[in-house]
Amino acid sequence: MNESINGWEVVIGLEVHAQISTHSKLFSSSPTEFGADPNMNVSFYDAAMPGMLPVLNENAVNQAIKTGFGINGVVNKVSKFDRKNYFYPDLPSGYQISQLFHPIISDGYVDIDLLDGNKKRVNIERIHIEQDAGKSIHDLSPDCSYVDLNRAGVPLMEIVSKPDMRSSYEAMQYVKKLRMILKYVGSCDCNMERGNLRVDANISVRKPGEPFGNRVEIKNINSIKFLGQALDYEAQRQIIANENGERIVQETRLFDSNNGETRSMRSKEDAADYRYFPDPDLKPVVLSDARIAKLKNEMPELPDEKRERFTRDYGLSETDANLLIEEKSTADYFEKAVSVSKFSRLESAKLIANWITGELFAILNKEDKTIETAGIPIEYITELVDLILDETISGKIAKTVFATMTETGDSPSKIVKEQGLVQIQDEAVIEAAVNKVMQNNPSQVENYKNGKTQLFGFFVGQTMKELQNKGNPEKINKILKEKLGVSEA
Ligand code: ADP
Ligand code: MG
Repeated sequence: MNESINGWEVVIGLEVHAQISTHSKLFSSSPTEFGADPNMNVSFYDAAMPGMLPVLNENAVNQAIKTGFGINGVVNKVSKFDRKNYFYPDLPSGYQISQLFHPIISDGYVDIDLLDGNKKRVNIERIHIEQDAGKSIHDLSPDCSYVDLNRAGVPLMEIVSKPDMRSSYEAMQYVKKLRMILKYVGSCDCNMERGNLRVDANISVRKPGEPFGNRVEIKNINSIKFLGQALDYEAQRQIIANENGERIVQETRLFDSNNGETRSMRSKEDAADYRYFPDPDLKPVVLSDARIAKLKNEMPELPDEKRERFTRDYGLSETDANLLIEEKSTADYFEKAVSVSKFSRLESAKLIANWITGELFAILNKEDKTIETAGIPIEYITELVDLILDETISGKIAKTVFATMTETGDSPSKIVKEQGLVQIQDEAVIEAAVNKVMQNNPSQVENYKNGKTQLFGFFVGQTMKELQNKGNPEKINKILKEKLGVSEA
């Protein structure tokens, strides 16, 4: 994190490549499925055989439009495809089809959360659609390279931010937010390990108020943690260079996650001229109002709207709402759990949220599962919370019930019944326990009566223990206060 180091301000803009969720490629009907054997998903078009023509995948276009709505962008009714010419062994046509001059989406933004609780708007310049390249494989043989064209022509969205971020933290928050939005929209699965979301990070430093400095582009970062590390390293490097009076050259660098450093890949000052020109095989993409309206209509509730609704309708804190909305499946799980509770949503929501973000998340983390794969029925969470709310069990016992429930798969009410965990409400029984504790601890009673009132917690604990954790806490408190004679400090 580097808000400002030695009076230097860090300036960051990100280009995010997101693989569009589609069944087939951008301009051919080859499948996009992951994990196929090399070169199995390759049509004549993908291999750039002479005379093959592109056919635009309209679903990919629709997904990009929805993403545009997701980032509050302007959907351009006319966009166009251009050829970006360069040679690379995994690019058989010798050019990549992209949208340089007329992208499908312009001028969006997302709001990110900062550490101090404030929000910050990061502006997005554009989203354009383009083809992915194939993969060169250099480490299978000592004396030759291989090419796998399965990925060639897979549809991507490139989401280009303005240079609005001022720290690695903001950059990480931005990618997290973008990822959440894309997953809600359903336009990208955002699996970073598979490379379905990759980040090129542009970074420069300047003294506040001065013009932007020369930027360095760090290519192809595939984890949010690495993004933070790469930016921190690079900010430091540029600041030190500046302070030593060296000039920062505009260049492309790579991040090496083994040593946490970036190193130079190529200088941009003698950058290739890509000779962009309009692709003569593809018509402009012209969108009708009806099509745009239909897609707008299909938009799901977005994370910001959901958070707002969760705090408003369920009385949750922003922190709780944030934890719940991070994955849509968690948010759905929560809402369903609240809806089947026999208590009103204002009574049950907070507690259900706590159990999901506390005990349930802990289990998911420990067992590396998701809410879908953990297989804990929604009704069980509701049942557990209802048992607490109607005072059948204490919160403490509920933790034991939860643990047993996840181990055995039994429902909370069955566990409570079978193990005799019902909360003790009978004041005579609680009083007997209190008496016993006082008898067994005469010196503590003496000390308490002489003013050492912090011992109250000790008595509560001992009484609870005596009642095998089943005592009603309010009643224990009440009876202890009566018996000990002195009011709690
Ligand atoms: P290019 O045309 O070379 O790709 P762009 O102007 O499109 O350059 O910018 C690419 C990315 O670099 C954008 O995300 C932008 O926000 C970011 N960027 C531009 N200038 C700077 C700078 N001086 N410092 C940091 N990031 C920058
Ligand atoms: Mg660019």
